[in-house]
Amino acid sequence: MSLVVQKFGGSSVADVDKIKNVARRVVDAKKHIDHVVVVVSALGDTTDDLAELAAQISRTPPEREMDMLLSTGEQISMALLAMALNELGQDAISMTGQQVEILTDKGHTRAKIRHVGADRVVQELRKGRVVVVAGFQGVTNEGEITTLGRGGSDTTAVALAAALHADYCEIFTDVDGIYTADPRAVPDAHKIDMISYMEMLEMAATGAKVLMARSVEYARNYEVPLHVRSSFHSGVGTWVKSEDDIMEKAIVSAVTHDFSEAKVTIIGVPDEPGVAANLFGSLAEANINVDMIIQNVSERARTDISFTVNKDDVDKVRPIADNLVSSLGAEGSNYNDDIAKISLIGAGMRTHPGIAAGMFKTLADNGINIEMISTSPIKISCVVRREDGENAVNMLHEYFSL
Ligand code: ASP
Ligand code: MG
Repeated sequence: MSLVVQKFGGSSVADVDKIKNVARRVVDAKKHIDHVVVVVSALGDTTDDLAELAAQISRTPPEREMDMLLSTGEQISMALLAMALNELGQDAISMTGQQVEILTDKGHTRAKIRHVGADRVVQELRKGRVVVVAGFQGVTNEGEITTLGRGGSDTTAVALAAALHADYCEIFTDVDGIYTADPRAVPDAHKIDMISYMEMLEMAATGAKVLMARSVEYARNYEVPLHVRSSFHSGVGTWVKSEDDIMEKAIVSAVTHDFSEAKVTIIGVPDEPGVAANLFGSLAEANINVDMIIQNVSERARTDISFTVNKDDVDKVRPIADNLVSSLGAEGSNYNDDIAKISLIGAGMRTHPGIAAGMFKTLADNGINIEMISTSPIKISCVVRREDGENAVNMLHEYFSL
């Protein structure tokens, strides 16, 4: 028996005609797949619009109420799609996260899935129905509705695919697949046929927006093959699979950029044990994600520590940094949100020397200064000035012949 989970994003269900189009695609899929489960996002910009309504009422709405509000978006699309399917003669039933039993922790607005029940989904599938599930939402053990963070419908789809032991999970979106770079910044970018979970995870973490990073983590942990493809035509997209299943491995697979981070520097901190632990401990306590970190060599027993955070978190960092500056007798702090993080990703880097050198040389030859560097076994990231960002991705894309 074949079973596939198909997820349609907000732009794929933006209006009634698009919903009808999705219904036709699902009916087509059902001709050659025994069981189809569909996960939907909210119509178009509904989630943004709902958040905007809340913002007009409160700057700090209770997170529980935000989840009550935001989870309504997906309930609209699931019901409309189930109606459209029934209209085409395909028996279908919609279900909320709670009805499916998508159990999460209590982290309102960014909850993590703990368990997927799915017994009812299986019962409905056995009746020959298509089950349409509201993405992005779950429920706590206490019966409180939660949401999974922006873009969370991807994670709903992959988690369901894992729980149902689906053959694969298809993510239908408004692009043709995963590209070697963001085509809006790099005109030469092209679609990748196949990429490993690890590379996709690095891409999602360094600015590629096609998939929510957590959904890729989930897919890797449960080895759910992902197919990212267009909802507007039937062409093949990009398959995300485990590295062992990929025959032709590229050395460098993609170059990504991220303009959403800011750089914070604490100047002249005493070079002694416990300083970094103190700083990053306080940031972690405040739930602030730190990305890159560098500490300079110390002169006169003092050093500078720089790190990057999301621009939205800078206001939360300031009081923590000020506190540290005064308690340690550091010289001060500064903030720069005019930066771009440019990353090169490729599983082949592990075995091919010279990739980092090629990246640095390309940037140097184009007069682009590197402000920070960080690496993983399959990724090299550089922070450069924001104004150099587009040029940097284009030059790297060309140098590595992507
Ligand atoms: N509707 C939610 C959002 O816009 C979830 C999703 O689209 O995946 O973030
Ligand atoms: Mg959306």
